[in-house]
Amino acid sequence: MVRKLAGQGIADPNLLAAMGAIERHRFVDSALVNQAYEDTSLPIGLGQTISKPNVVARMIELLLQGQDEGAIKMGRVLEVGTGCGYQAAVLGRLAREVYSIERLRGLHDKARENLRSFRLANVHLLFGDGMQGYAKGAPYAGIIAAAGGHAIPPAWIEQLAVGGRIVAPMETAAGQQALVVVDKLERGLKHSILEAVHFVPLKSGIA
Ligand code: SAH
Repeated sequence: MVRKLAGQGIADPNLLAAMGAIERHRFVDSALVNQAYEDTSLPIGLGQTISKPNVVARMIELLLQGQDEGAIKMGRVLEVGTGCGYQAAVLGRLAREVYSIERLRGLHDKARENLRSFRLANVHLLFGDGMQGYAKGAPYAGIIAAAGGHAIPPAWIEQLAVGGRIVAPMETAAGQQALVVVDKLERGLKHSILEAVHFVPLKSGIA
């Protein structure tokens, strides 16, 4: 899987190492284990999916590229949409602190179970509505979302540090979902719209 990611243009050696270290098969149901290293999204229950490895890598690489050059690790990162906890674990190897929030209790509990044996003391799993962000962990060097809405929630912008970056799927004017990068600069926000993606919807409230 890591070789394939490198062939697809993922270049960051720390990211490739992190994705090699976090075994994806430990996050999917036993019936799907033989598909765990294919470049495909897989069901994780409650109608949600674990993203394709290639999309996880692409989004984290964008997040890392938004950080100060020369920084050894990213600072604090907020992940919206913990799902099975896979991306949170990968982020845990690359950032000083990871706050990952999930709105579905069943998946929050599942992620806690999945992450236990990895002993990533810097990954904090939270149950709540990620559209509100998580103010207690702010300001964040990076915010990454695994679910797409119609706009970037204002709380995310508020909780992002100056110099920080948001990477999220979002519905564009054309009615299609695309990856969006928002950089919070001294002089204001810079939005970039990148390639089309397919993520589950960002929903408000908890369930
Ligand atoms: N990163 C995850 C991908 C999970 S899919 C993984 O590695 O498995 C996206 C997740 O976002 C779903 O579990 C969905 O329940 C969650 N989600 C959607 N809207 C949310 C919100 N407002 N706050 C928190 N989680 C949300």
